[in-house]
This record gives sequence, C-alpha cells and structure tokens, in this order.
Amino acid sequence: MTLTAPSTYKALTEQEAIRLAQSLDVFASSATLQCEEIGDGNLNYVFRITDSATGHGLIIKQALPYAKVVGESWPLTLHRATIEANALKLHGSLAKGRVPEVYATDAALAVTVMEDLSQLTILRNGLIDGKHYPKLAEHIGSYLAHTLFHTSDFGLHPFEKKRLAAEFSNPELCKITEDLIFTDPFFDHDTNDFEEPLREAAQAIWDNEPLKFEVAKLKRSFLTEAEALLHGDLHTGSIFVDEDDTKVIDPEFAFYGPIGFDIGLFLANLIVQAITRSGEERELIVQDITQTWQVFEQQFSGLWESDGIETYKTTTGYREYAIEKIFHDAIGFAGCELIRRTIGLAHVRDLDDIADESTRIDRKRQTLKAGETLIQTRREYQSIKQLETAIKELS
Ligand code: ADP
Ligand code: MG
Ligand code: MG
Ligand code: MG
Repeated sequence: MTLTAPSTYKALTEQEAIRLAQSLDVFASSATLQCEEIGDGNLNYVFRITDSATGHGLIIKQALPYAKVVGESWPLTLHRATIEANALKLHGSLAKGRVPEVYATDAALAVTVMEDLSQLTILRNGLIDGKHYPKLAEHIGSYLAHTLFHTSDFGLHPFEKKRLAAEFSNPELCKITEDLIFTDPFFDHDTNDFEEPLREAAQAIWDNEPLKFEVAKLKRSFLTEAEALLHGDLHTGSIFVDEDDTKVIDPEFAFYGPIGFDIGLFLANLIVQAITRSGEERELIVQDITQTWQVFEQQFSGLWESDGIETYKTTTGYREYAIEKIFHDAIGFAGCELIRRTIGLAHVRDLDDIADESTRIDRKRQTLKAGETLIQTRREYQSIKQLETAIKELS
C-alpha cells in the first residue's frame, strides 16, 4: 500500500490523519471515518481511525520530533519511526503472528500505518487487574527465540548481520536506555524520582560499590555487544494480549545489543507482578517466568540445530556456553530494570498504583532488593529452577 503524504514533516491533526487513511485502499470511498488520538503523547501520536459503519480500523503512529520528559521537551530523532516500522516487518517475518501487520510507512512524516489491535488488552493493564494469560509465556518465549536467533551470528551470514546492525543503528534511543536504566538510578541524579520513605534504600544503592561495579559491566555489555536485533523496550506495556493471542508493539528502541536484554526486561516486569501478588496468583506468574525461559531455551536450541551456522554448531559445548551467557545477562538486566522502575524516571503502575502507602513502600523495597540481588548473584544461577526459587524468596 502506498501513502499519499506531504514530503516534509508535520505533526498530524486528527483530520489530517483521517485524510491520510483515506489515501490508502482500505476503506470504501463512501466510508465515514472517525479518528481518536489514543497515545500518551510523550513521544508519539497514536491515531485510531475507524469506519463508523463497519467498526473496522487501523492505527497511524507518528513520531514527534521531541520527547517530553519531566515537563521539558528534548529533541529526538524522527528516524525512530523508520526503525520501528522496519523492526516490526523483520520481527513479523521471523516470529509469525507475534507483531501487528504494517500496512504502509512514510519516513518523512515519521508515520507507520498498522493493524488495529484494540480488541486486545495491554498486558500491563491486564496483569494489574489480576488476569492471567495462558499463552503468554509460550508466545513471548517463541518470539524471543525466533527474533533473536535469526538476527544473531548464530543464525545469519556475517555480511547480512552487519548490514542489519548498521541499518538499526539507533544512537539517540540507546542513549535514553543507557542513562535511564544503567546510569541515573545508580547515582543521586536529578532524573530519579521516588517517594521520600525510599530515600534510605536509594542511598544504599548509590553507596553499594560492588553493585555499581556489576552494573557498569552490564552497561558496557549493552553498549558494545551487538549480538542480535533487540526489540529494546520489551516491558509489559509493549505487549497486547488476550486468552489466545499475543502481539508485541513499539520497537522504536530496536538496535543490535546483547540477547539477554529483551529477555531480562520482560522477566523483570513479571517479577514486579510476582512481588505485587500473593498465593495462587503469584504462583501463576512465577510459572510464566520459568516457562518463558524454558520455551526460549528450547526453541533457540532447536533453531541452532536446524538453521545454525556450521562453525558454532559443530563446536562441542558452544551452544550451552552461549545459552548460559544469555541466561546470566538476562538476570542482570532484569535487576537493572527492577531498580530503575522503582527509583528512576519511568515508573510502572503495577507499583505506583498500590493505594495503601505502607504496602506500596514495602513492595518497592522488595523490588529494589530483588534488583540488587539479581545483579550481584546473576552468575550463581545454574538453572531456571534455581532462579525460580530465588524469585519466590524475593517476592
Ligand atoms: P509509545 O512508543 O509512545 O509508547 P506505543 O506504540 O506503545 O507508543 O502505543 C501507545 C498506546 O497506543 C498503546 O499503549 C496502545 O494503547 C495504543 N496502540 C499502539 N499501537 C496500537 C495498535 N496497533 N492497535 C491498537 N492500539 C495501539
Ligand atoms: Mg510504548
Ligand atoms: Mg515507544
Ligand atoms: Mg508477595
């Protein structure tokens, strides 16, 4: 499909978004279209366009040339819209059915036209409402295995891998992650944001030199280890779900980084849920954590055997070595995510929306503690069952 769009950038109004949708061969020319902006508007517009008669719709996501952070606007590259659209297309070809279909793109307008997933629920919202999604772990484990294996040196010719790594160079978005996940939360930095009762716990993190030493290693891994094309922002707000389906959205942070990063971010967001739940409900989430890793490991290993590059495949023990590294990295990155979601700039509703103050502060202290423990002990875990036991103790 082709878009008839102006050749220079302009932030769209709802009327202009409708006109853009009309230029695609999707809606009948007689259709009455409605438009609603449903994004949070901090970085991007998300317009939902629907045909009033049929209810059918599509999504137009447009990048804004700035990011609104702590009330200020910072310039931010529009190229991230192209990164996002290309990552969606590539990931969609590698992990069938796991991302929305991209109908059209326009680089100058920083626009991606894609499948409307409004019939699904954002995973974070569903989890906060106490729901459980029986297919989630299988779908995300499989998404991770396929997207990460097939973009890595284990599954790609080195020329193609380096071509992709150059295509998905994403320095401005990476810098946001570097600062907000790996730097600011570990120092008394003014982007940090936490409730006063947590000051002592935050100070303990800033004073914990062995912890900061491990975080520096993880940060350098994030900066330098171009292992596979990552989603780059795989938290539970980037996943749509229902009982049967799972779709991953919003890969504007995609770049070549360490394989464990996507896995760690996803698991950390489930660990937050484990901490806020109890009893049977907590048990289900812990099982999802275990199953996600198991599905990832099994399918990644399967792809290694069926589609892997010979030199790695035929080197005894290398697969086990590679998977162990991914596992330990993932645990470390999960720890960083737990800490930054508690005292850093970008919080999660799972914790912030706990109404009772003393419960909320307790849960946040637990999250910080879990983060510290996972970062510092990540190399001690020999199996997912051991990690499962630790998560139960920490939550
Ligand atoms: P941002 O990069 O600004 O976080 P997202 O891609 O995460 O933007 O989208 C923000 C919100 O817009 C999502 O939480 C969801 O509610 C809605 N949204 C985004 N993509 C779609 C889609 N394909 N279908 C339906 N709703 C969507
Ligand atoms: Mg998002
Ligand atoms: Mg985003
Ligand atoms: Mg608990």
